[in-house]
Amino acid sequence: MTVKVPFNRPCTLGPDAAYVREAIASGHMCGDGPFSRRAQAFLETTFHAPRALLTTSCTAALEMSALLCDLGPGDEVILPSYTFVSTANAIALRGARPVFVDIRPDTLNLDEALIEAAITPRTRAIWPVHYAGVACEMDTILTIARRRELVVVEDAAQGVFASYKGRALGTLGDLGCYSFHETKNISCGEGGALLVNDDRYAKRAEILREKGTNRSQFLRGQVDKYTWVDVGSSYVPADILAAFLVGQLEAGERITARRGELCAAYARMLAPLAERGLVRLPGVPEGCVSNHHMFYLITADASQRAALMDQLRGAGYMATFHYVPLHTSPVGQSYGWRAGSLPVTEDLSARLLRLPLFYDMAMADVEAVARAVCAFYGVECRDAA
Ligand SMILES: *Cc1c(COP(=O)(O)O)cnc(C)c1O
Repeated sequence: MTVKVPFNRPCTLGPDAAYVREAIASGHMCGDGPFSRRAQAFLETTFHAPRALLTTSCTAALEMSALLCDLGPGDEVILPSYTFVSTANAIALRGARPVFVDIRPDTLNLDEALIEAAITPRTRAIWPVHYAGVACEMDTILTIARRRELVVVEDAAQGVFASYKGRALGTLGDLGCYSFHETKNISCGEGGALLVNDDRYAKRAEILREKGTNRSQFLRGQVDKYTWVDVGSSYVPADILAAFLVGQLEAGERITARRGELCAAYARMLAPLAERGLVRLPGVPEGCVSNHHMFYLITADASQRAALMDQLRGAGYMATFHYVPLHTSPVGQSYGWRAGSLPVTEDLSARLLRLPLFYDMAMADVEAVARAVCAFYGVECRDAA
């Protein structure tokens, strides 16, 4: 079998590679140089984020968030089980307990209606994950958090350039975490950012990120020497990577728009399947603007997904499933964290299939993949446009 359409292919857009050469030529290759400042300023300006700090990954931003939440043994954090391991790992690394809550069937996001029932006197925070770049029901989540005095950390790894009621994902909670991993819309290979939306965390965030020192204050001339003032780690990415990222961020609107065109073509072509009730296609709730991070379909059952995926892959179209729910994973089981059964998570995770989607994807390839899906069901596709 030869791969005709990969699941993802990272893109370079020209300015990113040129900026990397510029960073190398400048002689400033370690972190917090001119390109890092440019990337942070871009995030702060474009997304109206009070403070953006580049990190080595979204995982690092989540770990910083766990430190900023002061999580420790006995503490509980509410999050979905249907997420990447990093969301839960950051909590578990502090000795705290992830409390998995079920998801909404329409967006596969944390079901806000189930949060209150999961809160105990030990609950410290709510960590919603914006799946596929479509926002969680943040008004409800923020209202609950305010009433119960809980910190909100958004895992907006997939949410760069997406919004909720006009506000950028990652800027709604107390803290927000972005990913610039190769698999995300905007990428520098490996990278991330922590958005510090509540000023309360700003000073400590800088210190944690700089190995527990007040080096950032020193570089601004606010103290005359820098020293060990707190715990911390090395969460600062190289300026070479920030340079690549600046090029990608500057092209962000173009990348997002192109992905939107590709998703719209998939949706239009596959509509006859949805109309016949053979599959379900992604929906975007009122007030949410997607960044088109993902195009998925929900099949009738797990065996239909397996058969469809085999057929697509056999034809060279690299469709793929997504998360194994964390509460069913070996670690999720062995810690004995209470989750009970999460019926929507267990059901939909077994039926979801992601189709190839990336910036450079040819429209003809979207059409070929969509036709292969329609052929599986023996239904005529609609035209792409
Ligand atoms: C990609 C992703 C992460 C991890 O991002 P890295 O930058 O690779 O650390 C975390 N959470 C979610 C929901 C993701 O999709």
